[in-house]
Amino acid sequence: MVSEKMVVLGKNRSNMRELFAYGLEQAKIVGKENVFDFSIGNPSVPPPDAVGDAFMEVLTQPALQIHGYTPAVGCDEARDAVAAHLTKLLKRPFTRRNVYITCGAAAALMASLKGFCIDYKSEFIVFAPFFPEYRCFVESAGGVLRVVPPEDDRFQINFKALEETINEHTQGVIVNTPNNPTGAVYTKEVLQRLGEILRKKSKEIGHTIYIISDEPYRELVYDDKEVAFVPDYYDNTIVCYSYSKTLSLPGDRIGYMCVPDTMENFDEVCWATAGAARAMGYVCAPAIMQHVIARCADVPANKEVYARNRKILYEGLTAMGYECVYPDGAFYLFVRAPEGNAKEFCERAKKLNLLVVMGDDFGCPTHFRVSYCVQTEMIERALPLFNTLIENGQS
Ligand code: PLP
Repeated sequence: MVSEKMVVLGKNRSNMRELFAYGLEQAKIVGKENVFDFSIGNPSVPPPDAVGDAFMEVLTQPALQIHGYTPAVGCDEARDAVAAHLTKLLKRPFTRRNVYITCGAAAALMASLKGFCIDYKSEFIVFAPFFPEYRCFVESAGGVLRVVPPEDDRFQINFKALEETINEHTQGVIVNTPNNPTGAVYTKEVLQRLGEILRKKSKEIGHTIYIISDEPYRELVYDDKEVAFVPDYYDNTIVCYSYSKTLSLPGDRIGYMCVPDTMENFDEVCWATAGAARAMGYVCAPAIMQHVIARCADVPANKEVYARNRKILYEGLTAMGYECVYPDGAFYLFVRAPEGNAKEFCERAKKLNLLVVMGDDFGCPTHFRVSYCVQTEMIERALPLFNTLIENGQS
């Protein structure tokens, strides 16, 4: 016998992955240049040179030193480098005790959720539209996903719906800013209000509601926009970070959890999340990558291409009559489908080998997502296809 739940997870790829795989197959038939793949968030710029240099340097170190197990929480050098970076960036003190190195944000999220999931009734709230894997993560951690619908197309937080959703089983709220799929960045005022509500509600229900702040796009913001640091607005926040997007290292699986000193029951939270990581077999993140990060924690993201792509795509699509929120961060555009039915729109687009992801899995079936971490020339060649789709309307 096998677990039916796991069969379902293994068998049913997400729409995004399905579309990406379709694009690869289709490229063999019609040629790579005739497939316009805007499906997944695979960075299109190479890692910064400093990362390559660090790799080369790490590889000259004694083999036993770079291939051996590190402590489960990560090696001291990587934790110290992350802590020093956060101290500089956020102007508040961090030390290695605040940092647990993980295999990307996915592992950090799983360890946090499992650490905060006290029983099968534990609820975790997400704001639609949301990264679809949250459902898999929350349910695999043993909890229940609750979705708060958006208030409007600015995709900030619908506070009224949030207050109505919180109940005695609420354990956590997942916050993702800059956001996948909308590119929205929560304002300080929004985070302030979120903090106030969670403090009030924690008192009312008699236990702490945690924020799990999923931040793989923290450095990917444009026009000098600032990304507020969520723990500055709510003490009981655990930060899940990743180098997948900012340093273009998604296949290398490296990131971290950060538990700030302001967290209530700091030691317990660290033990619970470390225990959860242990229970899932995440004993230590890839050692070579830890040594790379120890040398690259301060390296900035290369945003130039994404900033250019964002402008071309946003201006091109809105000039044609598409509606979407101007994305301040990440590398996605979340566009209202012309007839309000993204599934139908994405099917029509697919017939032109234009691969965009319907919003259904993100909890927002009126919109579709366009990943602009792609080659700029592909965007330029794809714009006439977007125009054909909006001009022709529903067939
Ligand atoms: N969270 C969000 C919002 C994402 O978009 C992604 C990846 O696309 C992840 C988490 C997972 O990131 P990682 O590659 O670090 O596991």
